[in-house]
Amino acid sequence: MQRRLLICILLVNVILISTSAFMLVDVIEKKEKAKEIATINECSMFLFSTLEALAFERGRTNVVLTSKTPLSEANRIFITERRRQVDTFLSDGINRLASLNPEEAENLKKQYNQLKQLRSNADVQASLNLADRDISFRTTWFNESTLIIFHIKQVIEEMEKPTSELGFFDFYHHFQLDCVEFRLFSGSSASTLTSVVNQGKKLSPSEYENFIEYRSKADYIWSGIEKSVFDINRAELTEKKDRVYNDYYKTYRPFQNEVLQKAMNGSATSSDAARLADLSVKAFDSIFELIREVNRETARSVDALESRAEEQLERAMLQFFLAVGFALFTLVYFRVRLFAPLERIIGALKSIVDGRPVIPLEEELKRKDEIGLLTQGVKMLYTSLKETQELKAQNEKLATQDCLTGLYNRQMLEQEVVKLIAHAERYEESLAMILFDLDHFKKVNDTWGHPIGDEVLIQTAQTVKKVIRSADHFFRIGGEEFLVLMPHTNIIEAESAAEKIRMDMDTARHPVAGQVTASLGVSEKKAEEDFLSWYKRTDEMLYRAKKLGRNRVVCYIPKLAPVASMNVEWRDEWNSGEATIDSQHKALVNLASEYFYYALQPAPDRKMIISLMVNLVGEIVKHFESEEQILEEIGYPDVKEHERIHKTLLAKAAKLQEDYVAEKISSFAFGSFFIDDIITNHMTHDDQEFFYYTQKRAE
Ligand code: GH3
Ligand code: MG
Ligand code: MG
Repeated sequence: MQRRLLICILLVNVILISTSAFMLVDVIEKKEKAKEIATINECSMFLFSTLEALAFERGRTNVVLTSKTPLSEANRIFITERRRQVDTFLSDGINRLASLNPEEAENLKKQYNQLKQLRSNADVQASLNLADRDISFRTTWFNESTLIIFHIKQVIEEMEKPTSELGFFDFYHHFQLDCVEFRLFSGSSASTLTSVVNQGKKLSPSEYENFIEYRSKADYIWSGIEKSVFDINRAELTEKKDRVYNDYYKTYRPFQNEVLQKAMNGSATSSDAARLADLSVKAFDSIFELIREVNRETARSVDALESRAEEQLERAMLQFFLAVGFALFTLVYFRVRLFAPLERIIGALKSIVDGRPVIPLEEELKRKDEIGLLTQGVKMLYTSLKETQELKAQNEKLATQDCLTGLYNRQMLEQEVVKLIAHAERYEESLAMILFDLDHFKKVNDTWGHPIGDEVLIQTAQTVKKVIRSADHFFRIGGEEFLVLMPHTNIIEAESAAEKIRMDMDTARHPVAGQVTASLGVSEKKAEEDFLSWYKRTDEMLYRAKKLGRNRVVCYIPKLAPVASMNVEWRDEWNSGEATIDSQHKALVNLASEYFYYALQPAPDRKMIISLMVNLVGEIVKHFESEEQILEEIGYPDVKEHERIHKTLLAKAAKLQEDYVAEKISSFAFGSFFIDDIITNHMTHDDQEFFYYTQKRAE
């Protein structure tokens, strides 16, 4: 979501910035163009003025070259003045042109040099009388100077090209060129007539034709000029146009027509020519006034364009910087005020989900807007979740802990034992249990009172905790009954731990109650055995310990694989509680030791071994008989099964005895039968089945 929103903002900003940039570029281009037009306009103004002066120079020099007399003072002044104007305007024009079109500027310079050459030739000719002059030079002058004039005109025409798309300039430019053409055609017609009159000749038909052609062209162009001025509709321009009309059409043309009539029959005089020349100056100058007005008009338009561009530039720049500023602002604002706080809030929510501690959102909490509300919501959620968790933890602790001793209780035992059994079975590890009960605890309560009894229980927990390992699990499962589960512990290790507990309890003294001992049952979990049967087995051992006189450890010894054992020692847990059976069992164990003692001699006496063997088998027979009788008496339910086992064992004993006598087996084979089958297998397992009955009877 954040990324999409960011992209949207960026997109809007990019559009904003790029339109502003586009406007900026456009305005800058417009400004550049306006500047270029200004330069062109300036340059063309100089060139138009050059044309004005040069047209007069051409015309008057043409007249002078055709006059009968050498150059008059008035004409000299007129020509000199026009030449000076040509020189100034042309050099200014060339200078401006150099920046626009250097090649063309160079060309124009060459032509200017030609003009200077032409001028000095003209001066030479003009100082001579008509008869001494080179007749062809007049034509040369006229043609050459006309060429230069047209060249300048062409240069002006070319100049408008690069900016032709700016409509007003294009229009003005053509208008000016039309004016120049009007000046040139009307000038040519004027010059044709004046030079004929000057020569005192009659106007020939071809000269007349030329004259009319030039003038008609000028008139045609004039009608266009009038239309343009009407279209432009500017007072200054209309006024200048009216002046041309007045000076040329109203003043000059009627007189020119008069002189034309005279020239056609050869009656025109040189004073007519002089008058014509005078009138033409005003008329033609006024045309250039019109041209200059257009130049001014162009300059005004360019100025307006420039100032408009300037304004637009300011606006575009403002817009551009505003757009950039807005872009930066929105990005920073959204980042700081929205995205970053949202990220932190989401981080906090994730932490809540994962149960990790939540980072404090102090800044966000202070806010009054939606972010503030959201943060408050997150905070409330976190607080209530934490409270619930704490409550749950407290409840769990209460449910699984014994309030008196702080040990785990029976409920926890049920939970833990499942895990421990699963783990032990998966990794085939041993798992042991010690079950113990305080001895004669009722007496403690009765003698010292319940509170002291409680203290003894607490002290017991502390004593035992010191003995067991941290990996062991310690539970109080009843009043003064405790249970220790020992992972990774076999029966031997568990027995020694139990013995250590017993000893520590034995030596510990409560300040009031004094010594309080414990009886302990120990067993190791068998493969695939469930907790209940394992617990029962251990409970039986505890029961046995109590029966054997308390303050002792009774260990459940599993069936061992048959091995030939040598040292046979009586163990307490073999006590059945039935005096006759126990004394017979002890006697059999002693006989077994005796048998091994002789069998292990370096050179045992076979007769001796056989007599021991016979004696031993006899004792077994006797014992079996009396045991069966006792079991019958006490009502042991499996007595028949037990008799069957006795029978099988006796048959095996008789066979082995027979084999030994026949020297088929060694004395050890019989010995190991006695240890493995009679003691280890039968006495400690088969017989233990009825221990419950014999011990109950003994109570
Ligand atoms: P033995 O186990 O050696 O056969 O004798 P005993 O006296 O310990 O036998 P029994 O199990 O009958 O008595 C246990 C007594 O423990 C009975 C009960 O009053 C006492 N008891 C049970 N729970 C508590 C307890 O939380 N505090 C105290 N002070 N006594 C308790
Ligand atoms: Mg007890
Ligand atoms: Mg008890």
